[in-house]
Amino acid sequence: MAHSIEWQWRDTGSGPGRMQRVIVYDDVEDEAQTAYRAFLVHSASCETCKRAEVPCEAGRELGKAYRAARRRARQH
Ligand SMILES: [Zn+2]
Repeated sequence: MAHSIEWQWRDTGSGPGRMQRVIVYDDVEDEAQTAYRAFLVHSASCETCKRAEVPCEAGRELGKAYRAARRRARQH
């Protein structure tokens, strides 16, 4: 594998808390793929993102990470 991923749950004390990802990559294409998969997996399993039109904070972060990874991948 060209990367390793670690999810860390941050309990914010109130609200649903949030996930923070720690990812190490060698390959930006791989990063975009993995970020997209993580986004899909979250969207399918998160009650907030499934029900609400606006994604939860973790969903937004994942979407942002995916778009950023895709931008980086295109630059190569
Ligand atoms: Zn969510």
